[in-house]
Amino acid sequence: MGLIADYHTHTKFSRHGHGKGSIEENVRSACAKGLRQIAITDHGFNQPLYGVRRKDFDRVIEEIEEMRERYPIDILVGIEANLISSKGDIDLDSNDIKKMDIVLCGFHKIVKSNSKREQFGFIFKNILCCLFHHTSKRQREKNTNAYINAMRNHDIDIITHLNHCCKVDVEKVARVAKETNTLIELNGKRLGMSDKEILKCYELGCKFVINSDAHSPKRVGECHRGLEACLRLRIPDSAVVNYNSLPTLKKDKLKKRS
Ligand SMILES: [Zn+2]
Ligand SMILES: [Zn+2]
Repeated sequence: MGLIADYHTHTKFSRHGHGKGSIEENVRSACAKGLRQIAITDHGFNQPLYGVRRKDFDRVIEEIEEMRERYPIDILVGIEANLISSKGDIDLDSNDIKKMDIVLCGFHKIVKSNSKREQFGFIFKNILCCLFHHTSKRQREKNTNAYINAMRNHDIDIITHLNHCCKVDVEKVARVAKETNTLIELNGKRLGMSDKEILKCYELGCKFVINSDAHSPKRVGECHRGLEACLRLRIPDSAVVNYNSLPTLKKDKLKKRS
C-alpha cells in the first residue's frame, strides 16, 4: 500500500491559471495512482486573485457529485481556507462549513483580511517577514495565537504548510493541534518546518497527513517531500493518517454523533 489519500489538491477553480486542471482530471489522476480518497480543496474566498469565488462553490459541489457517480473513488468537497487575522479568523462562515466534507487552513500572502489594521499588522507584516527572512518575537507570538484560535474556534481538519511565510512557535501550535484533533500537514512541495520542529510535533503526539498540494492533475498524489521527511526522521506509519489507512474527519464524527 502506501499513501492512499490526497486531501490537498487544486483545480481551475483556483482562478487565473493558478490551478491547471479540471476536477475530473484530478480525480482521474488519483484513480490512476490507486488512491482511495481525494479532496478538492481550492483556495479560500478571500484570496482575490486565486481563490474560488463563493458564488462558484455550488458548481464545485455539483461537479464533484457528478464525478462520484462515474469514478470508483471517494471524493471530498473541501477548501483551503485562509487565516485572515491575528485573532484566528478564517474566510469561511458556518454556512460555508456546512457544505464541506473537509476543511484545510493555511496562511497565504495575497489575501484580504477583515480590517485595515489586520491587513497591515497581520498579512502585510508576514509578507515582509517572508521577504526578509526575519520574523520578530512579537510577530511570531501573534502568528502562533492566530493558529491556536483558528483551531479552537473552527472545525479545521488540517493545517497546511505550517510555518511557511507565517512563522510560529511550532511546539505551542502542535500542543493545540493535538488537543483539538487537528492534523498537521507534511506538504509534498514545501515543508515549512525544520526536522526538529517536525519531530517535536511527533513527540507531542500530533498526527500528520501527507498531501501533494497539487496545482496540476499530474501532481496529484505526488508527495515526495513529506514521505522523505518521515523516512529521514523515522516517523512511523501509524503517525501518518493517510498512510495505509484513512482518518475519521471532523464531519464524519459529527455525522456519527447526530
Ligand atoms: Zn496553501
Ligand atoms: Zn494549496
